[in-house]
Amino acid sequence: MGEPNTSHLPYESSFVPEILTEEHRIKFACHPGVTCFNACCKQADVMLAPYDVIRLKQSLGMTSEEFLKQYTVPWEMDSDGIIGVKLKTNEDKHCLLMNEKGCSVYDDRPAACRYYPFGLMGVKHTEATSDEQNYFRIEEEHCKGHLQENFLPESKEITLGEYRKTQGVEQFDDNNLDWIRLMLKKKSAGPSVGKPSAESLQILFMATYDLDRFKRFISSSNFKSLYIVDNATYNEIENDDVALLQFGYRFLRQILFGEKTIDLKVDAVAKRSEERKDIWKTRHNAEMAYAQLNDPRYDPAVMGGEVMRDDMLKKQENASPQQSQDLNKK
Ligand code: SF4
Ligand code: SF4
Repeated sequence: MGEPNTSHLPYESSFVPEILTEEHRIKFACHPGVTCFNACCKQADVMLAPYDVIRLKQSLGMTSEEFLKQYTVPWEMDSDGIIGVKLKTNEDKHCLLMNEKGCSVYDDRPAACRYYPFGLMGVKHTEATSDEQNYFRIEEEHCKGHLQENFLPESKEITLGEYRKTQGVEQFDDNNLDWIRLMLKKKSAGPSVGKPSAESLQILFMATYDLDRFKRFISSSNFKSLYIVDNATYNEIENDDVALLQFGYRFLRQILFGEKTIDLKVDAVAKRSEERKDIWKTRHNAEMAYAQLNDPRYDPAVMGGEVMRDDMLKKQENASPQQSQDLNKK
């Protein structure tokens, strides 16, 4: 078995370097009577995956934009500048979603909180349907759930697979799997796909975390002038954030890797370019549509980027990946 990729994991010092499987046996108790109740939420370092944001924003009755602004902070997930989000804390590192009774969004708490003090390490295959998942353990002084004094009479040894079920984490992993695959593929593809431009990074963020904005983007006339999406798909994603997220994963495979996941309108494409056969052209189509939205929060100027100029686009159509990277830096 190859080494699982752990680069998407947020944990550093507390991560135990041991690969666990679903069969690994554990005895762990977490309930309101534990001596460390809420201790983990008072030192929160919780990375959010896309499906976490869906659950939390729905639980709080907010839009994705409102939730991201009020409850998250961005963090850089890799050296190419891919941005993820973590739960915001107060100055004492307490999660803002914690109250005196515990977690105020318990039924919709993120996957990382459900797993704790374990976590999903990665998947064995990024393309196969039968991904093998591995897990890791976090060892932190404040967590006493493994101590005898905190066990209840009904506490018993169970497998990690059974623990995942008791925590309801499978639904989260299922809906985040394609996101993990995207991140792993991006990493393994390395320089062959080039460093995404600032606009592509914004689209990546929007299509994974800021879904209400992504919905507006794909409903815009500019997007519809470039891409063929049938009415059934539009109807499905209108009221179903999970379907919207899955569509976002599909779209990103096209933007990032040039996979033909969504048909392009030939006439519209011809107007903008004689030939759009490679990843760069597909990416720029999306960027041009994206630039039309002009929301100050994600304005390229605010994000430190620059809208791609037409002359630059023309150069990129004929550029090699390395040349295109150089152009992106200009
Ligand atoms: S979301 Fe809930 S469980 Fe997770 S750190 Fe915040 S208060 Fe704790
Ligand atoms: S046992 Fe661990 S997970 Fe449960 S409240 Fe205590 S610190 Fe948090």
